Amino acid sequence: MSRETKCDILITHASCLTEDMEIRDEQAIAVKDGRILDVCAQESAGELYRASETVDGRDKLWMPGLVDGHMHTGQQLLKGRVLDELPMIWTRIMLPFESTLTPEKMELSAGLASLEMIKAGTTGFVDAGSYFMDKAAEVYARSGLRGVLSHSTMDQGNFPESIRETAVQAVESTDRLYDSWHGQGNLKVFYSLRALMNCSRELTVKAAERAREKGTFLQAHMNEYAGEVNYTLEKYQKRPVEYLDSIGVLGENFVAAHGIMLSAHERELLAECGAKVVHCPFSNCAKGVPDTPALVEAGICTGLGTDGTAHGGLSLWNEMKIFRSVMNAVWGSKNADPAVMPAKTILKMATENGAELLGEKGSLGVLKKGYRADIISIDWNKPHLLPTAKRVNTLVECVTGGDVCDSMVEGRFLMRGGEVLTLDEEKLLWQAKQYFEKQEASL
Ligand SMILES: [Zn+2]
Repeated sequence: MSRETKCDILITHASCLTEDMEIRDEQAIAVKDGRILDVCAQESAGELYRASETVDGRDKLWMPGLVDGHMHTGQQLLKGRVLDELPMIWTRIMLPFESTLTPEKMELSAGLASLEMIKAGTTGFVDAGSYFMDKAAEVYARSGLRGVLSHSTMDQGNFPESIRETAVQAVESTDRLYDSWHGQGNLKVFYSLRALMNCSRELTVKAAERAREKGTFLQAHMNEYAGEVNYTLEKYQKRPVEYLDSIGVLGENFVAAHGIMLSAHERELLAECGAKVVHCPFSNCAKGVPDTPALVEAGICTGLGTDGTAHGGLSLWNEMKIFRSVMNAVWGSKNADPAVMPAKTILKMATENGAELLGEKGSLGVLKKGYRADIISIDWNKPHLLPTAKRVNTLVECVTGGDVCDSMVEGRFLMRGGEVLTLDEEKLLWQAKQYFEKQEASL
């Protein structure tokens, strides 16, 4: 009788990124029932595990998949549309566009976003909320990605008729999305507030109550513009986070997207209740630079997001580089501290902290026994990656989305050797080209 343990997949001769952000060579990763059964030395793997499928992991770096903590499926078709535009792109370009979304546009958007994410090594994402999210959910379920969906939620402001909702209607829209999709495959549903300026107090409280009742998260665009901070100061005599604290909205399940203009007191409030923050570096550069060293120092879980493809694409590798540069330009140079935001911290933000933003603290984001098997590989056999004195630094400095070779979510390969298995790439790219041809013809 064999004494080996059965597993579904055994990735052999793998170089693995560890929890401490070191790289260990000649490892084997055993995957079973969607989880990492073990990460062990290659030499002992043969006698420990018998796999249904063995994958040769040589010449690649295996690591946890990246998590995009804040993106917008509903803005996928706005790629190239907002760069260099004058301010208030949200009210001038994005909202009018989102008000014309259709189920067909959302289907194409989710297909293209899935493709872009899988190919760039993103295995999990948090959508900030848009319309026809059911259509997006169908596509995301097929893609195999791990993701959070939300309904765009707001009840005040001068919006086109098609996206106008009352507080009750807006919360009910998310209730319906939650009932249909939360817990389906790798999908979850969060409640969402678009921005405090566009949400009445009634809506803010209702959405928070409902998220708590259902045991899910609440997310909001927070402290992104001076105008937004001034709005709550004027209306409630409190800064945005202070206002949410005063009406009982803050908690461990709260995710503040952007978090650029946070006062010391606001950081304290977020830290006290265990709320989370997610920065979107490329997008944020137009507005300000967050004090991330202070957030990290305060123990606040801080992740990274792209803010959707309209803001420079969905590659978190780009965001990590931009983030490193901005942190050093502002906080590092000021104190002549080159390690103000070290590579290890940045990688942790995009993996382990990203897992927390998905509500998967302690179960995702690390190559570790018992964790969910969301794993990517980087093809290291490239002139821009070899040779290197320290691979962890090169991961942040030089790796791009194009170097991602394999992608696995919950133990299932979504991409192997650069070929996406769950979506029809050729068809989606054809549809994308058709979309723009149609657009141009209608101008
Ligand atoms: Zn956003």
